[in-house]
Amino acid sequence: MATAPIVQKFGGTSVGSVERLQAVAQRVAQTAKDAPVVVVVSAMGKSTDTLVALANEISSNPSRREMDMLLSTGEQVSIALLSMALQELGQPAISMTGAQVGIVTEAEHSRARILKISTDRIQRQLDAGKVVVVAGFQGMASGDEFEITTLGRGGSDTSAVALAAALHADRCEIYTDVPGILTTDPRLVPHAQLMDEVTCDEMLELASLGATVLHPRAVEIARNYGVPLVVRSSWTNEPGTRITAPAPLDRALAGLELVHPVDAVELNPTEAKISFVRVPDRPGIAAKLFSELGRRQLDVDLIVQSIHEGNTNDIAFTVADADAERAEAIAREIVPLLCESESGEVCDRDVEVTVSRDIAKISIVGAGMIGRPGVAAQMFATLAAAGISIQTISTSEVKVSCTIDRVDGDRAVAALCQFFQVEYSPNRDVVSSTAPSVRGVALDRGQAQIGVLHIPDKAGMAAQIFAALADRNISVYTIVQSERCRMVNNFPTRDLSFTVNSEDADTAVALLTELAATVGYESVTIERDIAKVSIVGAGMANESGVAAAMFTALADRGINILSISTSEIKTSCAIRADRAIEALQAVHTAFGLDGATPIEVPKPAR
Ligand code: ADP
Ligand code: ASP
Ligand code: MG
Repeated sequence: MATAPIVQKFGGTSVGSVERLQAVAQRVAQTAKDAPVVVVVSAMGKSTDTLVALANEISSNPSRREMDMLLSTGEQVSIALLSMALQELGQPAISMTGAQVGIVTEAEHSRARILKISTDRIQRQLDAGKVVVVAGFQGMASGDEFEITTLGRGGSDTSAVALAAALHADRCEIYTDVPGILTTDPRLVPHAQLMDEVTCDEMLELASLGATVLHPRAVEIARNYGVPLVVRSSWTNEPGTRITAPAPLDRALAGLELVHPVDAVELNPTEAKISFVRVPDRPGIAAKLFSELGRRQLDVDLIVQSIHEGNTNDIAFTVADADAERAEAIAREIVPLLCESESGEVCDRDVEVTVSRDIAKISIVGAGMIGRPGVAAQMFATLAAAGISIQTISTSEVKVSCTIDRVDGDRAVAALCQFFQVEYSPNRDVVSSTAPSVRGVALDRGQAQIGVLHIPDKAGMAAQIFAALADRNISVYTIVQSERCRMVNNFPTRDLSFTVNSEDADTAVALLTELAATVGYESVTIERDIAKVSIVGAGMANESGVAAAMFTALADRGINILSISTSEIKTSCAIRADRAIEALQAVHTAFGLDGATPIEVPKPAR
């Protein structure tokens, strides 16, 4: 059998100058001695940014089609130059655009997903002994128009991993300007440390929560198709970071990025929910609360804090039902502690502890829901159609979890399995006992948090709201449905918050304000300039006190937490953007992630 090819991808900085291109050619030629090589390259240096700036000089709102036409030229420059550099070394090579290869995408300019990759043209060139140099980030829309599409900024990683999947490559190597995946962005925290390995689930969360080193969709494909993936420096021969995946399901390559957004439905039928209603909205409260629970070894599952109301918050958490009584007793003991303040302010008479037994947690899981606005909405709609009311919602990039009444559990599973066409997977466990509790820390800036207030507490509300956003193609991140239930006109209501990219914020607010009367909620609020700090680690679920340590690190610096959302492997806190870097550094240090020597990131050539 022929040797499986290797796919190597080089980012902008790695091909930022003629010298860099020649160094890349050396490396590729060396690899090509032992195996067929397909190279994917980005545009040189910051040239994509330069093209964006040019367009903005002409139009404040350029057509997405013309933007794709423009931006795709960046990669065309580097593929031609790299092929020439290879040929200069005596290594036969040929460059190909996305369209020439046959990278077929959906017809969504500026954020197209890959549908199919033909491999025969590449294969013919490989068989002829050539290195094939493919333009990353671009494809051609299906249909007869030969439209050029791009995959979204940072999308060359996705081109590379998709090609590796289609070619059944031996591995995909992503070469970049840092030694691999680090515990956080070294440009913000120079003492970040290299990871030897990270699981796909962890990397998906990190990449989607701000670790721009890998395009999240690349990780999604690696996970779904079992592509061995490494990220390493194009400056050294160090091994870099391996991204490890569970054994892939046997998937067809057709519809590559579009089929199967969800690959499992999980039910935890025996949970209980404890809520603190009306706790003071100031730094240190969540820290005190969860430190105390941790100190008493209470295993907390989900933590949910939605938007504040006036100067108070509600914080809810779930525990195993067997722990419910103990959790309640501890919670009641903690209330007076929450209210001690330097000014001697008394507040415990306002704080209420409520306990709901007979709760189940139902989740959909899958790498394919990233950035796909409609998937959470479909889950909410499916539950609504089954007449099931959602109590709290907490999302991560690969999971949407809702608490519902336990009696509805089996029906929820049946409805979701049918809708998403998956088998029920009772014990699909992403949590590994050997993984560190916190593998890395990520920062996501440039988001806004939107609150929808006083939503009638009945089935179908979240479904309507998120379906409307999905219809406008607005990607929604971190949804949190709060605990507080307030009576408005004798009907219980709840609040819900979620984050969107800043550029989508105005559209989202206008849309939701317009919908208020129809759907029946009261009002819409917005907090601009939000940053999200997140800790990610597959070992987190096995250890109590991890979330508490994060909250404490923020509290020690007087940083207020605006909302909290968790999954088994991550805890995210929204904070004000002006404290973002300080928060990132504090959390990184708190988990002992600071390395001994700073990481130097080479400056990109222009
Ligand atoms: P390329 O042009 O090679 O695709 P990118 O700029 O897209 O490079 O990604 C590499 C950059 O990602 C690094 O220079 C670093 O600043 C940033 N980064 C953010 N988070 C991380 C992280 N956790 N580990 C490594 N790099 C990170
Ligand atoms: N050149 C594109 C960008 O700058 C794609 C990439 O580098 O991955 O976003
Ligand atoms: Mg990149």
